Amino acid sequence: MARYLKPVCKLCRREGEKLFLKGERCFSPKCSFERRSYPAGMHGKQAQFRRKESDYALQLRAKQKARRVYGVLERQFRRYFEHAQRQPGLTGVNLLIMLERRLDNVVYRLGFADSRAQARQLVRHGHFTVNDAKVDIPSYLVNVGDKIAVRESSRRTTYFKELAQRLDGTRTPGWLSLDAANLTGTVVSAPSRDDIDVTLNEQLIVEYYSR
Ligand code: SF4
Repeated sequence: MARYLKPVCKLCRREGEKLFLKGERCFSPKCSFERRSYPAGMHGKQAQFRRKESDYALQLRAKQKARRVYGVLERQFRRYFEHAQRQPGLTGVNLLIMLERRLDNVVYRLGFADSRAQARQLVRHGHFTVNDAKVDIPSYLVNVGDKIAVRESSRRTTYFKELAQRLDGTRTPGWLSLDAANLTGTVVSAPSRDDIDVTLNEQLIVEYYSR
């Protein structure tokens, strides 16, 4: 299962904003973007002063930002788009809702991980069950009524013992419900466009793939 392996702070610098890809570090003075907010590379500084970006550049940036926030590679992202096109309703909204339903995102949104990247790793390492069956596929799409839980054997690890002490559900979105004491979450409804906590422009993404 392929994933992006290069330094992720460069992605924030490229997008010109903080994408919060590293959990706690993103809120500390160690955040690279706080120190160098221009793109990496020898021409990065000059890029800040370039003239107005073309429509294509804006569409590309919108698509890349969504891809990077959710940690999805290009081929899979295009597949999501094609799938979203076949669904009834607005393609752009369908796409974002599909990304939001990914198991790694749900684990992050429930507060079981500090970042989507960490959530992805926890899922890959087999720490979660969906409806009592082990699922280690980060791209697994959850449905309404699904119960996501930390596996019994994983609850004994230091990470999850400490997590159980600090989980308070303050960042749980309305479409999920958290049972912090039992390290369990339930999908109570399908996510809506308003539930997405990142500023994304789905219209530009649709325009990018419709060229
Ligand atoms: Fe982005 Fe977080 Fe790195 Fe800052 S620390 S540049 S917000 S990934």
